[in-house]
Amino acid sequence: MPLRVTFLGTAGAIPTTERNPSSIFVAREGDQLLFDAGEGTQRQMMRFGTGFSISHLFVTHLHGDHVLGIPGLLQTMAFNDREEPLAIHAPRGTRRQLKSLVNALGNRPSFPVRINEVGDGDVAFSADEYEVRAFETDHDARSVGYALVEDDRKGRFDREHAEELGVPVGPKFSKLHAGESVELEDGTVVDPEQVVGEPRPGRSIVYTGDTRPAAATIEVADDPDLLIHDATFADDRADRAAKTAHSTARQAAEIATRAGADRLALMHLSSRYAGHTADHLEQAREVFDGEVFLPDDGRELEISYPDS
Ligand SMILES: [Zn+2]
Ligand SMILES: [Zn+2]
Repeated sequence: MPLRVTFLGTAGAIPTTERNPSSIFVAREGDQLLFDAGEGTQRQMMRFGTGFSISHLFVTHLHGDHVLGIPGLLQTMAFNDREEPLAIHAPRGTRRQLKSLVNALGNRPSFPVRINEVGDGDVAFSADEYEVRAFETDHDARSVGYALVEDDRKGRFDREHAEELGVPVGPKFSKLHAGESVELEDGTVVDPEQVVGEPRPGRSIVYTGDTRPAAATIEVADDPDLLIHDATFADDRADRAAKTAHSTARQAAEIATRAGADRLALMHLSSRYAGHTADHLEQAREVFDGEVFLPDDGRELEISYPDS
């Protein structure tokens, strides 16, 4: 089951010639989800070939560099005769503002747009095998982060052992794997625990949006495969990070360590660091043992299962 992340925009508040404002595209099987939509997001979707078939847009907060792409994106969707509904999830208390963006210049989308306000701990969207949870962040606006968390998968089926126990190859295998006991012809009962291993964890991606280091980031998912964290500044401007409700790369790395993350993507770099990212990486690596990277716009990432 492929799970792919495409970084559409990785800039801080002001875009650069290399970086678009914040937006992240996630594809999981048939589902396409967008997290934030800074100005120009629709062109990034074209450039990097993601398509426009998103069903959900998750907004971390209503600062322009995270939402100004919404009106243009919705207009293009309408030009394309979209009929499928779109759900927009956003922090509690932002519905009115968001509505004014959706209906900018008197525009009325040709398709239903549903706005869903979420707060800390809410499940914004629940699908068959995963959910997207909102969690509390610490920014100078109403804000949340989001975590895509997959359900546990069934344990491994020990085929060899099942055969040793005399289970005939066929439907009884599936029954056992689905958690049901089966009775053999000689009356012996085989329980699933005998042939099915422990449930295996699914994958998870955590995206903070703009924030100071926030404790909820650590709790929202167990050992996330990928943490995408605000790293607007390096150590040289740690005071500015605190003042403007952002994080430094080092702080992002501390959160990644405490969350048990596998990989850390540093996002939302201030334009003052354009072309100078060495400090961010170095300072993050001093406190985080996992993989740290600073994605460019267009960077794609496949998330594999922890046990694969
Ligand atoms: Zn921002
Ligand atoms: Zn912001």
